[in-house]
Amino acid sequence: MIDSTHSSAERAEVRAVRESGRTSVLVIGAGINGISTFRDLALQGVDVVLVERGDFASGASSASSHMIHGGIRYLENGEFRLVRESVQERNGLLKIAPHYVKPLETTIPIYSTFSGILSAPLRFLTHKSGKPQERGAFLIKVGLMIYDTFSRDGGMVPRHRFLGRKRSLAELPSLDPQIKYTATYYDASMHDPERLALDVLQDGRAAHAGAHALNYVEAIGRDGDKVVLRDRESGTEFTVVADVVVNASGPWTDLTNDALGADTRFMGGTKGSHIVLDHPELLDATRGREIFFEHSDGRIVLIYPLKGKVLVGTTDIDADPREVPVCTEEEVDYFFALIHHVFPQIDVSRDQIVYRFSGIRPLPRHEDTAPGFVSRDYRIEVDDKGAAPLVSLVGGKWTTFRALGESLSDVVLGLLGRTRTVSTAGVPIGGGRDFPRTTKARRIWIQENLPGAGDRAEKLLTRYGTRAADVWAFIEQGDDAPLAGGDLSTRELAWMVENELVARLEDVILRRTSIAFTGHADIAVLDELADALAQLLGWDRTRHDAEVDQTRTLLNERHGLTLSSRTRG
Ligand SMILES: Cc1cc2nc3c(=O)[nH]c(=O)nc-3n(C[C@H](O)[C@H](O)[C@H](O)COP(=O)(O)OP(=O)(O)OC[C@H]3O[C@@H](n4cnc5c(N)ncnc54)[C@H](O)[C@@H]3O)c2cc1C
Repeated sequence: MIDSTHSSAERAEVRAVRESGRTSVLVIGAGINGISTFRDLALQGVDVVLVERGDFASGASSASSHMIHGGIRYLENGEFRLVRESVQERNGLLKIAPHYVKPLETTIPIYSTFSGILSAPLRFLTHKSGKPQERGAFLIKVGLMIYDTFSRDGGMVPRHRFLGRKRSLAELPSLDPQIKYTATYYDASMHDPERLALDVLQDGRAAHAGAHALNYVEAIGRDGDKVVLRDRESGTEFTVVADVVVNASGPWTDLTNDALGADTRFMGGTKGSHIVLDHPELLDATRGREIFFEHSDGRIVLIYPLKGKVLVGTTDIDADPREVPVCTEEEVDYFFALIHHVFPQIDVSRDQIVYRFSGIRPLPRHEDTAPGFVSRDYRIEVDDKGAAPLVSLVGGKWTTFRALGESLSDVVLGLLGRTRTVSTAGVPIGGGRDFPRTTKARRIWIQENLPGAGDRAEKLLTRYGTRAADVWAFIEQGDDAPLAGGDLSTRELAWMVENELVARLEDVILRRTSIAFTGHADIAVLDELADALAQLLGWDRTRHDAEVDQTRTLLNERHGLTLSSRTRG
């Protein structure tokens, strides 16, 4: 455990909650769904405390395929409600979070005309496993027509199109020439999930003085009407009394309930992994699109460009939430086989992997349903037997976080005897407000809001959306020097510490920036950033070294890097 006595925004939040010791609503778990619920309640003027045992969005929310999507394949499971809501939310997020959520042209290579047709209705009727198999053109066509219908209201993306082999290969020449057709449609991708989550969080904090968000604080038990919390930075414990407790701890929901004295069996998460490749040939082969397809066993695979790299995922394997999920060598072999399946001429090797990540999907318990076909929809469970009602969230994708936050908040408002005063539908998120959408609008916005930022302007606008104006104004107020090869600077890091609740080195490397994701986290960068953070957060040498070692271990063990120990003493 690491102790820090220095004053920071993160410590100030902990102090405020400790001193008060009570709130209306305690939300446990700051993944995107806990954060969304926190923002929604704060906007209603409800006192709310959000606690997260790690950093914000460091659980399942940091491990997604970065897609904001309707989930065309969930139609096969009969999940029409979920798909309709997801498509509507996707269209909504393209409008309210355009800084991070961008349209994603998606192409499915298709090898057969009819396969999957017999098994799909069977699965739809029984929700049992059946034997997954590759979906043929007919089934995909029906799915995309339904998808387009759900999308009609929003009008944010073009309708789907089908092409035969010849025209498909003209558009994507590296595809396997054995394909019969391609289907192309639009979904959306999230370029910075952790920053999007942070933006939602910041909007919640700004909406109401009684809204507090605490990272590195874990809910560990219940003592009558008090919930016992452990501050993982100082190692101390304190309590909070709340009128309603919300358990939004994702795949760990049953474990948190257990700690609170409630015996539940809601969850049955599955592990999914991804690799990030630095592979210009593969990047070029995608032509900027997501290639979305399935292996002969019916499992879904995606290959798509993100931040100049290629993201490849994912697997779907039953998982124990007490174990730390990692991307194994078998999963890497599986990904390589799949890349070869659609792009047979392109070689891939392990030294092109710059980052791996893995997480557990917070899915409901699923008995004999095959992992890939477990419901992705969410539900809300209320237990009113204890001193305060305990509300558990079961499930919930990234895509639907806004609607889910509203639904969960409605349940909480009902328990508090309060009514909704505002909706979050259509409300811009953080730096998505007034975001310039065209090249010309970007140029004008930069001229007006980031004067003198020069080469950094584009980077700041991409990282913060229109919040970049505040960041730049802050940077200009002091001496600044580049960090991490210019990806960051000393003043920008100070902004993160003062405004974005940074507590640890890993927060900066993994979540406030894409340094790790893009393969730029070497030992020199870790050392340099720890030096700068030590000054900002008052770390002594022992803490500095512990931060570097812990982050190095994390990158090696969870993200497949091979960083040796520190280069200087
Ligand atoms: C491989 C994979 C791919 C995915 N791809 C997509 C996709 O492309 N699109 C999409 O929409 N969705 C996708 N998802 C699903 C999506 O990422 C998750 O459903 C979503 O992020 C869940 O958010 P959450 O807030 O419910 O849970 P989490 O993000 O897991 O948040 C729960 C938090 O609770 C904290 N916590 C646990 N116990 C305690 C405690 N006792 N005290 C305090 N805090 C605690 C955890 O640290 C964690 O941060 C994917 C998921 C995975 C794993």
